[in-house]
Amino acid sequence: MKEEKLLRKILEDNHLRITKTRLFIFNLLQNNEPQSIAELVDRSTTKVDRVSVYRILDLYEKLGIIKRINIGWKYKLELSDIFLDHHHHISCIGCGHMVAIKEEEELEDLIDNLGKAAEFVLTSHQLELQGYCAKCQKRQKKQSAQPLRAI
Ligand SMILES: [Zn+2]
Ligand SMILES: [Zn+2]
Repeated sequence: MKEEKLLRKILEDNHLRITKTRLFIFNLLQNNEPQSIAELVDRSTTKVDRVSVYRILDLYEKLGIIKRINIGWKYKLELSDIFLDHHHHISCIGCGHMVAIKEEEELEDLIDNLGKAAEFVLTSHQLELQGYCAKCQKRQKKQSAQPLRAI
């Protein structure tokens, strides 16, 4: 598996061994939706203790293996652009559901140009969109005539 090889290489380059626990957490991260720490801890309970999950996530973040996706003052984690193609997300403020938006060249060019205009060489950026998913829009409509509340 290509991803696992890459993980091994990053760990080796940093004089770290690939352990069963580290690999287990890495596999949990290979999810198609970003996850919160609580979700990752939940999914590990039978195999890895909470402290180890935190420690490994911390290590992975320092090594650039994972990155934070900020949603308001909270965040979720997902594999970094080394493992996944660069992309952005839309998250639902009703149910927390998150979907990836595929990379748009025009958008990326526009962002690069914004950087250039400010005389910056950009090394990274985040663009996270928020709103209500289709399910939540339906639920809201059913519930009453109450308008959707923007936060
Ligand atoms: Zn929703
Ligand atoms: Zn982008």
